[in-house]
Amino acid sequence: MKPFYKGDIQDQLIMHEWGSNGIDVCLDHRLSNSEARVNDEVKKVLASVIRQAIVKPFHDYYYRVDFGPGVRPQYHIVSHDFYCTCALEADCAAVIAVRMYLRDGGEPARMPRPGYFLTVPHACPICGSRAYYQPKLSSKNRGIGWECQSGGKKCYWQNELAALQVAYAAKWKWLEIDPSAFKKLPLFDFKDGYDPDHD
Ligand SMILES: [Zn+2]
Ligand SMILES: [Zn+2]
Repeated sequence: MKPFYKGDIQDQLIMHEWGSNGIDVCLDHRLSNSEARVNDEVKKVLASVIRQAIVKPFHDYYYRVDFGPGVRPQYHIVSHDFYCTCALEADCAAVIAVRMYLRDGGEPARMPRPGYFLTVPHACPICGSRAYYQPKLSSKNRGIGWECQSGGKKCYWQNELAALQVAYAAKWKWLEIDPSAFKKLPLFDFKDGYDPDHD
């Protein structure tokens, strides 16, 4: 089988008849969600691809999307926070397939507990700037370490502290403890250490 398209968008439109005739569709930047928003033909192609998708929960925190043998790549793995592991990330048709699966009552993937990272976040949860892998901050209890472009490690620790505060608040509520009864702010228990000012 030859790859489905090489040339301009018109060549791709045979796709409407796609299905049993074994035509290959390659999901790349030309067949992406953002392209579908500005190009009706791309929208039709993607709608037809998405319609055939089989979505299943995958390893707790992910979904596996199977587009069938006519689509390359056939399998896409989408994370609980709606990023595809293929090059298209959030722009992948597989993300839409997952959203539709959930809308139709599909079983949602598990969410990692707040403050625990399976991967580097796509954007800093505190300031929204780009986040990078920071192995020094990886730990058993917090998962993969990261820092961000504008706030560095400060944002990382701010997020961890916020997650811990939420967890403590829930615990206090459950124990019926009023935190304002404490004489001073309690020290939070970071299992793997907490040192925002040093590497
Ligand atoms: Zn994908
Ligand atoms: Zn940040």
